[in-house]
Amino acid sequence: PPSLHAEELSMTDFVLGTVCTVRLMEGGSKATLDEAFSRLRTIEDRMSANRDDSDISQVNVMAGKKPVKVSEDTFYVISKALEYARLTNGAFDPSVGPLVKLWNIGSGDEKVPPTEKIMAAKALVDWRQIVLDTTTRTVFLKKPGMALDLGAIAKGYAADEIEKILLNHKVKSAVIDLGGNVFVFGSKKDKSSWRIGIQNPESERGEYLGIVSAGQMTVVTSGVYERYFIENGKRYHHIMSTQTGFPVDNDLISVSIVSKSSIDADALSTALFVLGIEKGMEFLKQFPDTYAIFIDKDHNVYLSPGAGKVFTLQDKSYRYAEKCYC
Ligand code: FAD
Ligand code: MG
Repeated sequence: PPSLHAEELSMTDFVLGTVCTVRLMEGGSKATLDEAFSRLRTIEDRMSANRDDSDISQVNVMAGKKPVKVSEDTFYVISKALEYARLTNGAFDPSVGPLVKLWNIGSGDEKVPPTEKIMAAKALVDWRQIVLDTTTRTVFLKKPGMALDLGAIAKGYAADEIEKILLNHKVKSAVIDLGGNVFVFGSKKDKSSWRIGIQNPESERGEYLGIVSAGQMTVVTSGVYERYFIENGKRYHHIMSTQTGFPVDNDLISVSIVSKSSIDADALSTALFVLGIEKGMEFLKQFPDTYAIFIDKDHNVYLSPGAGKVFTLQDKSYRYAEKCYC
């Protein structure tokens, strides 16, 4: 059950496959928190790929058979995900489901699947075979065996939805943390900037590599360090290359995005991880007021133009890369 910490008016619960916390610093009430968590549970019920009765599972079961009517929420998130698939030419692809299921990373019982299975799953990943009909609000996957997975974007949507609830409840100041996907809302009582730590990918939780400091914003990180397994000394993480069918194999360990919109930050953190530094920096140019912080295996930190205004490096074992994109 969710735990309510009365003294600071915050609530924590396990939703969306992770630990979620909403802290009200000024304004709002227990009813605000109840509404926020009930919204999170609704989003999970509709968008989980692991629940038989979710919109997503029903669309997946009907792949190759017929279109399925989904909730407005789900339709919106799939549309957004398709927009990113189009923009990234499929580097970000919400039809990655067959690969996610096959690799099953995070289950605690993983091994590298046989090559034939990887190739077969990869062949089913193709965002161009997703058909959305706005008039009937239906989703159709053209090939049997295709499957949607919104794991790279739905938490971002959820944070934006909580923002709306906080606005409705006239909250002045709050922090939303959906498993490290952080959204700071409003302004602090003393009017100082919010500070959000970016986790050091190679140390225990709680240690920061650097700090992002600004007004209302969201900071979302995609990395190789939370959902992964090691086989024969090689790390296999959960961000998939739709080109190879294997986890993306570049030198990155994490990509953090700073933005006003959490759904975009979530999609972008995954998309830029897949695209890598060069293409990712180029891609980001079309998003105003959005910053990226890339970290590679050699502890180099790469900032997108303007990111230096909000990010400060703290951990001395990391350094700014020689190549500057500013
Ligand atoms: P991100 O980088 O934002 O996303 C990575 C995830 O996106 C991968 O885990 C995969 O799902 C997907 N993905 C991988 N490659 C690509 C690609 N190239 N393009 C697009 N997407 C890609 N976890 C559980 O263990 N059990 C659950 O029951 C569960 N239910 C969930 C229900 C919902 C509605 C959501 C949103 C998440 C749920 N999760 C669950 C967590 C989920 O499985 C992912 O691990 C999580 O969303 C990853 O988020 P991230 O921010 O760490 O990484
Ligand atoms: Mg993401």
